[in-house]
Amino acid sequence: MHYEGNIIRPPSEANSILLQVTVGCSRNKCTFCGTYRGENFKIKPDSVIMEDIAFAAQYCKHQRRVFICDGDALIVPQKRLLKILIEIENSSPG
Ligand code: SF4
Repeated sequence: MHYEGNIIRPPSEANSILLQVTVGCSRNKCTFCGTYRGENFKIKPDSVIMEDIAFAAQYCKHQRRVFICDGDALIVPQKRLLKILIEIENSSPG
């Protein structure tokens, strides 16, 4: 998996595959939060994300859930996000 920078795993995602689609936080301005300070926000390239989905499909077969991270992963444009979700569904072990 191509992890970059700090990755947050919420307790509810203890057993989930962490699929990092963004690096850092798109806002990064909350005064109480230093989680992604110093990290430039970016959406990772689709090619890298697809490689990670293929890796997880091969080596993480016992995990039933995927957590899409990092800070504000839902900022990924809907068309790209849909492509990622479809690839996850198609790669899932039934
Ligand atoms: S991760 Fe959340 S709390 Fe931290 S700066 Fe970004 S939006 Fe704010």
